[in-house]
Amino acid sequence: MGVRGIWKGFGGEHAEPVRVPDAEEAASLVPAVSDAERLDLLGSLESSDLTWFWATDSGGRLTYLSPRARAQFQPDRAIFGKPLADLVQTIQDPDDPGEGKPISFMLSARSSFTEMVVGLKDEGEDAGKRTGANSWWLLTGRPQFDRKREFSGYRGIVQDITATYKEERRKSRLATFDALTGLANRHRMSQRLAAALNASKVEKRSCALLMLDLDRFKQVNDTLGHPAGDELLKQVSQRLQRIAPAGSEIGRIGGDEFQLIVPDMDDRGKLGDCANRMIQMLSQPYSIDGSRAIIGTSVGIAIAPYDGIEPDELVKAADLALYAAKGGGRGQFRFYSNDLKETAEDRREIEEDLRDAIAAGQLEMHYQPQVGARDHVVRGFEALMRWDHPEHGPISPATFIPIAEQSNLIDGLGSWALQQACIDAAHWPGDLPVSVNVSARQFLNEDLPAVVKTALSKSGLPPSRLELEITESVFMGDVGSTQAMFAQLRKLGVKLALDDFGTGYSSLSYLRKAPFDKIKIDQSFVRGCAQDGGTGTAIIQAIASLAGAMNMTTTAEGVEAMDELASVSSLDIDLVQGFIFSRAVSHEEVLEKLCSGELRYEPVGPARHRSGRRTLFRRVGVVHEDHHYVAMLRDLSRTGARIEGLLDVPIGTELVLDLGEGQIVVGRVRRSQDATQGIEFEVPLVSDGAGGLCTRHRVSPYMLAAIGMPLRALGSGHHLAAAAAGSAGSPSGRPRFMQVDVGGGAARAG
Ligand code: C2E
Ligand code: CA
Ligand code: CA
Repeated sequence: MGVRGIWKGFGGEHAEPVRVPDAEEAASLVPAVSDAERLDLLGSLESSDLTWFWATDSGGRLTYLSPRARAQFQPDRAIFGKPLADLVQTIQDPDDPGEGKPISFMLSARSSFTEMVVGLKDEGEDAGKRTGANSWWLLTGRPQFDRKREFSGYRGIVQDITATYKEERRKSRLATFDALTGLANRHRMSQRLAAALNASKVEKRSCALLMLDLDRFKQVNDTLGHPAGDELLKQVSQRLQRIAPAGSEIGRIGGDEFQLIVPDMDDRGKLGDCANRMIQMLSQPYSIDGSRAIIGTSVGIAIAPYDGIEPDELVKAADLALYAAKGGGRGQFRFYSNDLKETAEDRREIEEDLRDAIAAGQLEMHYQPQVGARDHVVRGFEALMRWDHPEHGPISPATFIPIAEQSNLIDGLGSWALQQACIDAAHWPGDLPVSVNVSARQFLNEDLPAVVKTALSKSGLPPSRLELEITESVFMGDVGSTQAMFAQLRKLGVKLALDDFGTGYSSLSYLRKAPFDKIKIDQSFVRGCAQDGGTGTAIIQAIASLAGAMNMTTTAEGVEAMDELASVSSLDIDLVQGFIFSRAVSHEEVLEKLCSGELRYEPVGPARHRSGRRTLFRRVGVVHEDHHYVAMLRDLSRTGARIEGLLDVPIGTELVLDLGEGQIVVGRVRRSQDATQGIEFEVPLVSDGAGGLCTRHRVSPYMLAAIGMPLRALGSGHHLAAAAAGSAGSPSGRPRFMQVDVGGGAARAG
């Protein structure tokens, strides 16, 4: 509620305006009262705080004010004879500046007014600026006319509403601002966004929306306590206010979520820089009551009208971008793109199908051997879940496990995996252990020890043959309950392994706190360790030495190439797991292997690891004159691209590339051979936050609407340049270049 609303509130409470009778009228109405009695009555009324009186001369200068009202001004300030407009100021509604005519206007119009909210001005305070008043009045006034019917000034009453007004203002601030940080709250932000989008729609302008979510905030809250968390949020909002672009509005819209509205902004280069600055600023250490805290932030960005025209559309787009930024590793920003929407839809579908996957028998446990680093003899198997989707084929657990974790399906899936792995392992000849992955979500569930116990007793597998693989993220939770869970699991007699070591919030101190039997060194250290000049090897050796000192076994994960195996084997690593020995295989294959009596694995793999160079095979649109072609994008850099699909384009030709989603780039052919051209861009591309590139600006949906397309956010596909070319009328003449089919038969001329 703005001041406007407050004003209305007062109007309701003081529904009956006090009329000031003129002397004649009063005399005829109450003849029984003497003048002295009437004066006495007015005097006592005036000295109460119920009503005070005021009067001006014909020039609007104050001639009378009840003493108690006068007392609200500085005692040494001369107020009588001063224009009333210099003393009080009409309170305007900030959200509706057209309302609340200035008092000088009311007075010069010589009309009556009732219950006008005014604030007392300080001496010399400028009219027009927002009042710094500390006292507020409700002013009612009637113009006075003398016997010659000449206007002689105003008379009226004053009511002091300071206390109520302050309270109303406080409530209204509470309703629109966040009490902790003083930033706009969710309610106000959604109003501001609606207003900003409305304005940009009318003027066909843009508006960017940035969503921020703090990384690791929960950890600070849990370890340092809620007051520290509050203090952190305050400091975060101060930093944000310092770096927010001019003209933007910042709000805190929930726990550790912030939002930034930047009107008139569609430059993805600038927005990316701004997001990076925010990420850097917010990840500097914070000092809270002598403790140091480090957090990070992820940023999702959507821009109207490209990514959405209505507020909820834009918020959804920014949310999806934020979600992708968080998923891509923390401390990143992402622009919204249509792919994200498709990803979100895929996720929903996976989640739906996963619900029935167990019952439908689509899930299976496969097993990958862990072998001795020197003798290559199998020492155990890691159980890995496999899902054969009836329509989509095999779906990777790296895809569906995170979805299961977020949709609470993980508990069901996890207990099934535990049971199945225990049952299978109980059938293996010998006494090799089986390792089962336990996600952090499962670890937070108090029932986990009971689930493990059931799996063991149902299968008859001895506890010593079961190992649980846990990632460092379990240390992000409450320290006390984490320790209690470790203790309970240990009591069951199962083994514990720290999985993916080195990828998370790695701290060697975790190793001391938790009773692990094994550390699994993540693939990223093994990958290329033989070629990176020794950094990887040095880290692996350091971890191995530490683990050795603490009586823990070490496994190197993800060994694929011969040189990697050689490096790892030269260090104090106990076990190796990787494609070089075997991928995860079915239970039947495990049985076959174990029954064969040959427990050694033969390393098979490339001599050295080849980093898979990504080659671009994206279809793009090409416009030349008014003809539209389709080409394959073979290479893309900030300053240029290599395309394939048009035959014999002369050097120097100006082409327009349509990269999709409204991204149009103008370029000139610099190299040309047969169907391949090297094109240099007029304006360089900018980073898209996801390791890719995008154009700074996009074709505005308003422009497309102007050439007859329906007004909506940009869709995927490459129809924009075609539409723009088409709008110029039917193509004149024959296309200058021959289109050749390079995309495996799917490419067609537009
Ligand atoms: P993880 O626990 O780190 O499992 C090892 C992953 O690395 C497996 O991927 C395995 O196939 C792969 N891998 C093994 N050797 C190599 C190699 O030499 N090169 C490469 N490039 N990869 C190798 P997978 O099976 O796709 O599983 C992915 C992740 O999904 C697992 O990572 C684990 O976090 C999760 N996961 C799998 N099964 C389960 C399960 O039953 N429960 C839970 N909670 N998570 C599971
Ligand atoms: Ca694992
Ligand atoms: Ca792992």
